[in-house]
Amino acid sequence: MNSATPETAAPQTSGSAVYFDGVSSRRRTVTLRLSDRLDIEQDGQAVAAWAYADIRRADSPSGVLRLSSLTAPALARLELRDEALAAELVSRCASIDDHMIGRRGVAAIVGWSLAAAASIVAVVLFGLPLIADRLTPLVPQAFERRLGDVADAQVKTMFDAKVCDDAAGQRAFVKLITAIREAAGLDTSVQSGVLSSSVPNAFALPGGKVYLFSGLLAKAENADEVAGVLAHELGHLKHRDSMRKLIHDGGTSFLIGLLFGDITGSSALIFGSRTLVTSSHSREAETNADSFAIDVMHRLGRPAKPTGELLLRVTGKEGKGLSIISSHPLSEDRLTRMSRQDPPASGPPLLTAAEWKALKEICSGKI
Ligand SMILES: [Zn+2]
Repeated sequence: MNSATPETAAPQTSGSAVYFDGVSSRRRTVTLRLSDRLDIEQDGQAVAAWAYADIRRADSPSGVLRLSSLTAPALARLELRDEALAAELVSRCASIDDHMIGRRGVAAIVGWSLAAAASIVAVVLFGLPLIADRLTPLVPQAFERRLGDVADAQVKTMFDAKVCDDAAGQRAFVKLITAIREAAGLDTSVQSGVLSSSVPNAFALPGGKVYLFSGLLAKAENADEVAGVLAHELGHLKHRDSMRKLIHDGGTSFLIGLLFGDITGSSALIFGSRTLVTSSHSREAETNADSFAIDVMHRLGRPAKPTGELLLRVTGKEGKGLSIISSHPLSEDRLTRMSRQDPPASGPPLLTAAEWKALKEICSGKI
């Protein structure tokens, strides 16, 4: 029989696929076009464009190629069933398997899975707080980062918060957070930003993300006040408090989710993302983060007292409010602690007057 010769056929550069935007659960049938990048279109309209270098393979059943992109929302997925198109696309994505876990990673995950399994038994026997403390240092960083990405997307959706990116404001923010991060001894993997939300809050997510809501920035009167809050959150980050909290609050269902690799679909995490932002860490974790912030501010030659003043201004004397405040040490007590042995400023201001003004306006156009 004389058959067509696929060897000589031109590579297939377009075809259909299924697309999930990572924000809604809607399943869309899209057309893919392979040019100098991957264009995703629906009914002739551009939906997204992914650079080949950013595309990564995601877990999928056989017969389906499932892809994600580093620059798309964490849960965005593309599913291809057309083998010829999938093969051509894969050949263009040089880094498609870069994130795949090597042998050491597998060993770490097996170890972690065993630890998680053992811990479920231990939780029953000993209770959660102790287990959360013991288990947190064992969670691989890569896991924690993935959790952080999912929590990140959920938090932004939940609070309808956009990243504020006014150019001058962003430069001021980067200057401020870089000074604090360096004084805190943390590396450049820390990600941070200001999110537009009227809620006066700041929080740290697993995997190295720190966010300040514009509602808290609006109540701040100088850069030292904001710097201490950011330093406090970096303290939570350094102590991996968010991871500990997820294990603690998420409980056994969260551990089971981790055990079976079901991170993104875990309802425990959806619950977890909310509690990460709206409730506080343990009192002990808070006190440690405060100590860390005081230490960082002094290393910068700046006073810690203004941060205490900001928190008191936000909460009032009863100390009611959100995460950075609720069920924490009372704001008055914190202010007292931050004022104690607080030397006068010996270092230069963290921001110039113009930079502070720009930072205050970082969300202009977003709210
Ligand atoms: Zn805190």
